[in-house]
Amino acid sequence: MKAVMLLSGGIDSSTLLYYLLDKGYEVYALTFLYGQRHSKEVESAEKIAEAAKVTHLRVDISTIHDLISYGALTGDEEVPKAFYSEDVQRRTIVPNRNMILLSIAAGYAVKVGAGEVYYAAHLSDYSIYPDCRKEFVKALDTAVYLANIWTPVEVKAPFVDMSKADIVRLGLKLGVPYELTWSCYEGRERPCLRCGTCLERTEAFLINRVKDPLLSDDEWDEAVRIYEEMRTKNESKSD
Ligand SMILES: [Zn+2]
Repeated sequence: MKAVMLLSGGIDSSTLLYYLLDKGYEVYALTFLYGQRHSKEVESAEKIAEAAKVTHLRVDISTIHDLISYGALTGDEEVPKAFYSEDVQRRTIVPNRNMILLSIAAGYAVKVGAGEVYYAAHLSDYSIYPDCRKEFVKALDTAVYLANIWTPVEVKAPFVDMSKADIVRLGLKLGVPYELTWSCYEGRERPCLRCGTCLERTEAFLINRVKDPLLSDDEWDEAVRIYEEMRTKNESKSD
């Protein structure tokens, strides 16, 4: 059983990789370089694929950067330092990203004889990123099937109903090396602990009552302090 998957180097896709290995798949992981600021994530993807001993390709599509650069992840806008609200999250949209990446992955799946393409869309992405929704997964699955009808490929997002904390819970059971993963959008040497993904990451580990293994003890204490401070700020704002 072969499966192609999108591996970004973050928590969700790294957990997906271990989930597929646990199910007995031979995994072909693709990491796309599309001009994202956080190239640390790409290095992480490399390390995780190596640790998991799977076939891994870096796919450089950064030449399309100018076509889709927009928002805080690939454009010039600053990365928002706050919890994800609709407004903040909208600024981190890369237009049509998953449609582009999954189309390429589906073509690769046909080539290597894999019947399934996986990506780690999940509930926390649901409200804002339209290409992480169940409806999108279903529609793309149909489109990819029709486009490759003699060599059918399915598109799957098994975490679509799971929160980030659920994903971390699963990953801890599967032994995902979270110390190798990267989430921060800032692209510095160490996680900033303040951007939306850093806060989300801290929350996911806090809910599971586990220290984030990427962080030192001091960094973890700092992350929890910042998380609680931002939480309080956020609550008083919504009062
Ligand atoms: Zn950060």
